[in-house]
Amino acid sequence: MKIIADLHTHTIASTHAYNTILEMVHYAAQAGLKAIALTDHGRRMPGAPGDWYFQNLATVPRRLEGVLVLRGIEMNIIDYEGNTDLEENAKNLDWAVASIHGGLMDPNVKPTVELCTELWLKVAQNPMVRVIGHSGTPQFAYDYEKVIPEFGRQGKLVEINEHSFLVRKSSVPNCKKIAEVCKKYGVPIVVDSDAHFCTELGVYPNAERMLKEIDFPEELIVNGDENRLYEYLRKYTKVLEEE
Ligand SMILES: [Zn+2]
Ligand SMILES: [Zn+2]
Repeated sequence: MKIIADLHTHTIASTHAYNTILEMVHYAAQAGLKAIALTDHGRRMPGAPGDWYFQNLATVPRRLEGVLVLRGIEMNIIDYEGNTDLEENAKNLDWAVASIHGGLMDPNVKPTVELCTELWLKVAQNPMVRVIGHSGTPQFAYDYEKVIPEFGRQGKLVEINEHSFLVRKSSVPNCKKIAEVCKKYGVPIVVDSDAHFCTELGVYPNAERMLKEIDFPEELIVNGDENRLYEYLRKYTKVLEEE
């Protein structure tokens, strides 16, 4: 299996990532990737770009160096109602990853499995969300058996995030559980780098090892095959029509 698209990446616009779009695309092309999603952080993340950055992403060509470029965002989930910081004016983006970043949640509310289950069930109803970002954090554990099938019904892709194996190690056991539940219910996933530097693009040894360990079905890895990815993009986005 070869991952052919990286659908969660950060550029210098996030201000804690270090490459320009051109550098990212160039590296993606060198790494043999067919597509990349630019998903800089939503506005609640300290140092994140403003609304105009996302509104104006339409100026970025859809194809550079032969790589399909998706204009995206990593939205922050900001409360237990599953609201996000995606502004109205960012609705014309191609791609949205929705993630919880612990530091941005209300410190006065203690997350429980019930609260986090409700949160993700609401996010599952958000038509803009394509990817459920790194949801294995133990602090924000949810009822995987209940929520993951709903992600599948709503066309959301559950992310297996290489970065979690490196910087969120406590999430690793839950990432495996999540992948197992995806396998059980036939829910599609994406394997992403969450790169904050271009050399991280297209490199997923830990995620791939874990998926192999649990004998994860290849046909459920949406970015494991170009046709499969295109089929998904055709069904849920306008990217290919507009290209
Ligand atoms: Zn970041
Ligand atoms: Zn990210």
